[in-house]
Amino acid sequence: MKCDACGQDNVDNARRCVRCGSPLNPRGTSGSTQQSGPAMKKIALIAVILMIIAAVGFYLINSGQQGEPLNGGGDVTMESEAPASTE
Ligand SMILES: [Zn+2]
Repeated sequence: MKCDACGQDNVDNARRCVRCGSPLNPRGTSGSTQQSGPAMKKIALIAVILMIIAAVGFYLINSGQQGEPLNGGGDVTMESEAPASTE
């Protein structure tokens, strides 16, 4: 492939220009998608951080609101309301 900086013809799998040392785009497109790697890493990192924040926030909210233990009060049977079907 051809170097965008100096025009040196390098081999296709070369990651850097042998003449000027500038990084070559392995996709061959002389365009703007040369930051796909770091961008994907950044997006993945942000997603992981958001998941961690959501998990921690969910845990904090649950631990803050549930002062009483689950199924500990014995109010599992909530059938005290009789259906007023007979009229
Ligand atoms: Zn070059």
